[in-house]
Amino acid sequence: MIYEFNKLPGIGPKTSEKFVYFLLNQPREEIDNFVRALNDLKEQIQVCTTCYNFSEKTPCVICGDPKRDKTVLCVVSESGDQAAIEKTGQFTGLYHILGGAINQIEGVGPEQLKIKELIGRIAANGIKEVILATNPDMEGETTAIYIAKQLESAEVKVTRLARGLPTGADLEYADEMTLTDALKGRREV
Ligand SMILES: [Zn+2]
Repeated sequence: MIYEFNKLPGIGPKTSEKFVYFLLNQPREEIDNFVRALNDLKEQIQVCTTCYNFSEKTPCVICGDPKRDKTVLCVVSESGDQAAIEKTGQFTGLYHILGGAINQIEGVGPEQLKIKELIGRIAANGIKEVILATNPDMEGETTAIYIAKQLESAEVKVTRLARGLPTGADLEYADEMTLTDALKGRREV
């Protein structure tokens, strides 16, 4: 069990151990709830076939919402980033979740991300603006530059979040004000 917890991002062996002792002290019922939630994860959550976000149904609530602006697409690395932008309440368009960022050290190339799908989606759906909202770190910048290059000849406006976000920051953990400013001050690339 310690070994399993240790695989989770940001969790070291000490914390893993703490989790296990905590669980050992829980009543049987709590453990059952935990196991059930874990089992439901893969059974009830799927990936939206339009935006590639995790969802209980496909298309997801956002892709299926007729009130959303279908001409603007916000491109993010992970679901957590999408959730952070959505929380600002400032964005009314649709999202596209890449499933990571280009990272040469970890062997993540463009073909492992939903970039081909993004290009196809833009071409097929009359998208007018693509906001590149990848993290302001090296991987995020590399990914944004790569996508911008791929879209050079496309009839679409490509923008990038403003520089308000600190370099190396994780979008997911940026506060709402900073994120709102970054979104409003986005510039064309
Ligand atoms: Zn969706």
